[in-house]
Amino acid sequence: MNLPLTEEQQLIQRIAREFAEKELEPRAEEIDKAGEFPDEAMRMLADLDLTGVPYPQEYGGGGADKISYVLILEELARSCAATALTLGAHTMVAGPILEFGTQEQIEKYAPRLCKLEDYGAFALTEACSGTDAGALMCGAARDGDDYIINGAKMFITNGGYCGICVLFARTDPDTPGSKGVSAFIVDRKESPFEAGKHEDKMGIRGSDTTELIFRNCRVPKGNLIGKEGQGMRIALTTLNVGRITIAAQAVGIAQAALDEAVKHSKDRRQFGRPLAKNQAIQWMIADMARDIAAARLLVLHAAKLYDEGRPFGVEASMAKLFAAEMAMTHTVKAVQIHGGLGYIRGTKVERLMRDAKFTEILEGTSEVHRMIISGDLLK
Ligand SMILES: Cc1cc2nc3c(=O)[nH]c(=O)nc-3n(C[C@H](O)[C@H](O)[C@H](O)COP(=O)(O)OP(=O)(O)OC[C@H]3O[C@@H](n4cnc5c(N)ncnc54)[C@H](O)[C@@H]3O)c2cc1C
Repeated sequence: MNLPLTEEQQLIQRIAREFAEKELEPRAEEIDKAGEFPDEAMRMLADLDLTGVPYPQEYGGGGADKISYVLILEELARSCAATALTLGAHTMVAGPILEFGTQEQIEKYAPRLCKLEDYGAFALTEACSGTDAGALMCGAARDGDDYIINGAKMFITNGGYCGICVLFARTDPDTPGSKGVSAFIVDRKESPFEAGKHEDKMGIRGSDTTELIFRNCRVPKGNLIGKEGQGMRIALTTLNVGRITIAAQAVGIAQAALDEAVKHSKDRRQFGRPLAKNQAIQWMIADMARDIAAARLLVLHAAKLYDEGRPFGVEASMAKLFAAEMAMTHTVKAVQIHGGLGYIRGTKVERLMRDAKFTEILEGTSEVHRMIISGDLLK
């Protein structure tokens, strides 16, 4: 499919594809099997200046647009979704600092994140608060020039490896719901916290998903992002961007499933001819290609609106909802086209099917995105 991309965007897309084919593809199966954190690949991405792509160069970023950024994530996810998610979750953390932080916070933390001197994590979810993020209980009590943080976060991507965490905690225990929540930068060197349980997942097994435990963790008041009570607004703004990036990863996973399905249906012969000669297979492949193209355009549209400084929340939800469900549906079809082989560990489509599921859950489940889209129409 010919996309309306600039020469620069096409070049970035090509660099990401070449990197993914050379460095990620050969190791993706092993990373999945062992649940190995893709640190080596992330270091290589940092060397290529791809760990802070959408942020200003003066703060260590790549200075590229959001379209280029989502093109990179799609290409990486096509080869190794665990690496793509690790990069996406890491890159997301500099966003709220650059958008809502003070100049001092930006200068101190953005370059460390963009250059991967520290891994970043975005810590919102707790045992009691997932979809209902505003119900979080983690507390930040003011004590002189500091806040004392107590509580635990769960399912945090890069949690075990992060040096910098954007944390959401309740500064006003008397205000229930979103209004009492504030956002903090927690620098693990200055304000140590522990990693708890590391989750053993169905898919994206190389990505790190860990519990974070804060016990009397002292954070300077200068690390509050924005004002007290603005935390949920900061979280939701960040998640809007994150949603486009998860949608891009879903497109990459689905594209890989289509690539495998095309290859296998031409190679595998039954009844004396390739599977691809059967209309039932041809139609599955046509539907996959159609839906991948549609999802990709939704992703690019949302990214373009963001680049242009226009509202993009509903479009991000549409892209995420459609791309995630499309990736789940079509990775299952790719397994079907592979027959028994598709069900066997070590066959790429089997991994893709397990990987695809995360895209329907993270950064708002599909149900949440249906609420956002219908809420906008019915308000
Ligand atoms: C691999 C992985 C990585 C993650 N990384 C991070 C991270 O880096 N940072 C972070 O903060 N969080 C992270 N999360 C958490 C993730 O964002 C949450 O799991 C997600 O938001 C869903 O919350 P929950 O699991 O508590 O599900 P619940 O909120 O318990 O929802 C369960 C089901 O009920 C549905 N549901 C809930 N409320 C409603 C409603 N009102 N109407 C209809 N349906 C509803 C949901 O859609 C879902 O299907 C991660 C999760 C996973 C699995």
